[in-house]
Amino acid sequence: TEEMAAQKVNVLITGANRGLGLEMVSQMVKGSVAVSKLIACCRDPDGPGAEALQVLAKQHPDVISVVRLDTSDLSSIKECTQQAGALVGSEGLNLLVNNAGIMINTTLLDTTCEDMQKIFNTNVLGPMNMIKEFLPFLRAAAKASKISGMSTRKAAVICISSLLGSVEGTRQTYEYFSVLPYRVSKCALNMLTVCAAAELRKEEILFSLLHPGWVRTDMGGEKASIDAPESVQRMLDVMASMTEEQNGAFLDYHGQTVAW
Ligand code: NDP
Repeated sequence: TEEMAAQKVNVLITGANRGLGLEMVSQMVKGSVAVSKLIACCRDPDGPGAEALQVLAKQHPDVISVVRLDTSDLSSIKECTQQAGALVGSEGLNLLVNNAGIMINTTLLDTTCEDMQKIFNTNVLGPMNMIKEFLPFLRAAAKASKISGMSTRKAAVICISSLLGSVEGTRQTYEYFSVLPYRVSKCALNMLTVCAAAELRKEEILFSLLHPGWVRTDMGGEKASIDAPESVQRMLDVMASMTEEQNGAFLDYHGQTVAW
């Protein structure tokens, strides 16, 4: 019915070809979220690393659109907005998930400037440019929505951060797991997201940070404590429950607040 269609959301996920991003696409399209258009972005849609996503997209051709996007490249982001704009139209974009990320595992003494620039390009400038370039679509969704207050079903940006970006956590865990460039980048992503939350609060666009848990993906490794389906199921539950109270919050996959 028209009422049902009005409740459906348009979603964009970065880094959707493997790991948590792919699992998020899979669970969203299998019905855990009522999705109208699901824009699944990845760097190389035609390459072997995107085969699983392409299979999923072929099973749900009305919902999933695979769009090329390298979040570290502003011109690639601008091309993506063209395609995404044509897909979502005047409904706008209800939910942007900044999931794409890389890890560089070095200590202070062996980290180079190139390491820091590389990780900032993807983990910080990527989400920043995604927010800036997709803002017109988020604004359109916020204006079109009949939902009062803030919601991930109205207009929201979820940035996938990490416990490793917590200053408080780093005091305890740095000596066991240094990953300095990664920690610094996720900490910067946290600040970026809190600033965006404050700057756009009056437009009722929700910004929030999620720690997915330590998850068995290429990045998390085999020894991680949970699998991607569990992490994503819980993150989707947390996202669904968000209101203006969670604007600028840093939550884990259980919905618990993570210390800055
Ligand atoms: P994976 O390494 O399994 O997947 C990373 C994804 O990001 C891939 O799809 C990759 O694409 C994509 N990506 C990387 N760089 C870019 C770029 N420049 N442009 C577009 N896409 C890019 O990681 P996870 O799925 O485990 O991680 C997803 C998010 O969760 C990350 O932000 C990570 O920091 C965070 N996280 C993960 C944890 C874990 O335990 N797994 C713990 C805490 C946080 P490609 O295939 O082209 O490389």
